Amino acid sequence: MKKVLILGSTGSIGVNALNVIRKFPDKFKVTGLTVNSNISVLKEQIEEFNPEFVVVKDQNKADELAKSIRSKTEVLFGNPGLIEAAQSRDFDILIGAVVGFAGLIPTLEAIKRGKRIALANKETLVVAGEIVTRLVAENGSEIIPVDSEHSAIYQCLIGENLKEVEKLILTASGGPFLNKEKSFFDNATVDEALNHPNWKMGSKITIDSATMMNKGLEVIEAHWLFGLPFDKIDVVIHPQSIIHSMVQFVDGSIKAQLGLPDMKLPIQYALSFPERFENDFMRTNLPLINNLTFFEPDFDKFECLKLAYQVLETGGTAPCILNAANEVAVDKFLKGLIKFSDIPKFINKALNKIENHSNPDIETIIECDKLTRKFVNTLN
Ligand code: NDP
Ligand code: MG
Repeated sequence: MKKVLILGSTGSIGVNALNVIRKFPDKFKVTGLTVNSNISVLKEQIEEFNPEFVVVKDQNKADELAKSIRSKTEVLFGNPGLIEAAQSRDFDILIGAVVGFAGLIPTLEAIKRGKRIALANKETLVVAGEIVTRLVAENGSEIIPVDSEHSAIYQCLIGENLKEVEKLILTASGGPFLNKEKSFFDNATVDEALNHPNWKMGSKITIDSATMMNKGLEVIEAHWLFGLPFDKIDVVIHPQSIIHSMVQFVDGSIKAQLGLPDMKLPIQYALSFPERFENDFMRTNLPLINNLTFFEPDFDKFECLKLAYQVLETGGTAPCILNAANEVAVDKFLKGLIKFSDIPKFINKALNKIENHSNPDIETIIECDKLTRKFVNTLN
């Protein structure tokens, strides 16, 4: 029986992770759940899964929850509560399903204890990939990717020699604006950007999919997970989202992993690896799908994708600046404060303004994140 701590249990990945765990009561036990402020959903999760502890980031909400639950579940709060959970509570697997930079520090604490990390929170690897991968190696921890593209590549690489890999090919749906002109981006509405054709996800990653920053972040994530340079990581548009990604080898052979666009499968794989558990998820019906297409991404239209390749090549704190600027810009767009087309503009401004530090330690990364947020918050 594996004990599981879910960071971000009320989000799209968190809820799907609980949907998987519910199916395997003899294999997994939920020991801890954490949220930002959504205590009404958390309360239902406590009643069903009876965790030993929960963490609510917002202290007032934590107090309100503590007064209203009948179970013995302990309620911790704030960043100290999150860190305590990761640092000293009992669990075997941490599911990193928080969105954004907030996932970094608790994930690092679990890595230092040698735990398995089922990682959805790609921002952790984007901002601190060098530190994360070093600590994983030093502490006998392991990261099993939940992001569907990286789960696909992970599966394709089993039994292979990395030296024989020519390139990784990340597939991208292209998001809701794949067939729009760039001029449309000045007037794109929040509702249009949130209307993803294939995936139901949290709002931040859905906007990232519309700008294709999501694929850019995934290129950086793939670099740290699989140790290949940026020029060996390609992106190909594949609107059907059936092939989740591919690996091309030096002999020209390509391996791919296929499945329906449903995050339950990569979540289950990250929990069950190296085993596969039988499940009742819907099966891919190839004759029904009938048509799989591929084409090159348009880097001029999707500037965020280009910027992500650039910061990966630059290194240092450049990916941290890109990530923080993107988080703030996306939040402003979601609040209706800026245009969709402002997102890459703000990121560019931040990259030109904030100083880049090579080989940053964790304090430098935290400081860089803060400085960038402060700067982008002054833009309008
Ligand atoms: P959601 O916005 O749906 O959920 C985010 C979760 O994190 C919620 O539980 C939220 O709590 C909590 N949270 C938000 N901000 C904070 C904070 N500052 N401190 C602590 N907890 C916080 O996101 P998704 O589930 O869509 O995405 C989660 C991560 O997984 C992202 O990094 C995303 O890129 C990645 N991912 C997601 C996929 C998907 O299908 N959704 C696919 C691949 C990767 P509350 O509910 O209280 O606000
Ligand atoms: Mg993905």
